[in-house]
Amino acid sequence: MHNPRHLTPVALDADWRDQLRSVISDGASLLKELQLSPADVGLSEEACADFALKVPRAFVRRMQAGDPRDPLLRQVLASTDELVAAPGFGPDPTGETGSANPRAGIIHKYRGRLLLVVASGCAVNCRYCFRRHFPYSDNRNSRREWQDALDYVRDDASISEVILSGGDPLVAEDDHLAALCQDIAAIPHVQRLRVHSRMPVVLPDRVTADLLDALSPPGVQTVMVVHSNHANELDQSVGRAFGRIRERGMTLLNQAVLLAGVNDSEDALVALSESLFAHGALPYYLHLLDRVQGAAHFEVEALRARELHAGITARLPGYLVPRLVQEIAGEAAKTTLPALPRKA
Ligand SMILES: *Cc1c(COP(=O)(O)O)cnc(C)c1O
Ligand code: SF4
Repeated sequence: MHNPRHLTPVALDADWRDQLRSVISDGASLLKELQLSPADVGLSEEACADFALKVPRAFVRRMQAGDPRDPLLRQVLASTDELVAAPGFGPDPTGETGSANPRAGIIHKYRGRLLLVVASGCAVNCRYCFRRHFPYSDNRNSRREWQDALDYVRDDASISEVILSGGDPLVAEDDHLAALCQDIAAIPHVQRLRVHSRMPVVLPDRVTADLLDALSPPGVQTVMVVHSNHANELDQSVGRAFGRIRERGMTLLNQAVLLAGVNDSEDALVALSESLFAHGALPYYLHLLDRVQGAAHFEVEALRARELHAGITARLPGYLVPRLVQEIAGEAAKTTLPALPRKA
């Protein structure tokens, strides 16, 4: 239970592409690295077959060897809990197919902003991911097809912000991102480019000068929204990546998901906010879990979530309190959960 030195140093100073190629994708190797047995953690091959296990070594290095309840491990471990059918949990909890998907590669649900599904994979597979069943194969565009998607943005003057999403958009190559971002920035009514990525947290070496060049075309402001759920995810390498992002003048925000057994305590949430700030990012959203099939064991009830949120609101400066939100299919924006009445 210490700084994990047990990891093979294979990926330590490797190029991000090599690190992406050498992600751990089988449960047995992951558990061997952590000196745990499948029975300790409920590893399930069947769950892996449904949604592959995938985690970068740079992220595994921040887990505690020998701890079956490590909060980082829990987020990536394909477990027998996923096989339990739960009422209300389905394949598309946020309503992203159908009319919200007007063109291949576009999810447009809210006024003024839309998502581009730039990549179909991620560096890590988070077990609670609401897109774990997303039909990526229907949303994979060639460069020419991207022009059709961009025509949709060009034709709608109400869109002032384009969000690169996925999967994880930073899995895409720099030249593809650069071309796409330049085309987006050239659209007169687009003022902001937003990037939603977990990569600066799980594989911080991805944040290179070339990447930041690609994401900073002239004519738009760039906002980076990263995704970290627990203070243990943030180490010096992540802090350096955040620093590089900020040096480019990008606004740096974090969204987290409230997850049972990971961060469902006041102490964990306070530590996350404080650590985010210490590393250079501000908390933006704390999401209630989207009820995706296979993730029921991560659910925190809405009332408990509101209690936790009231608790951290009483302990943190206002600027370190994320907004507690829920995605309700068909709504015009994320829904903010009402604050609990103050106790007399
Ligand atoms: C969450 C989300 C956004 C961004 O919402 P903000 O409240 O602006 O952060 C945009 N489009 C879709 C489809 C989303 O799910
Ligand atoms: S990085 Fe984001 S999109 Fe990818 S699996 Fe995790 S939560 Fe889902």
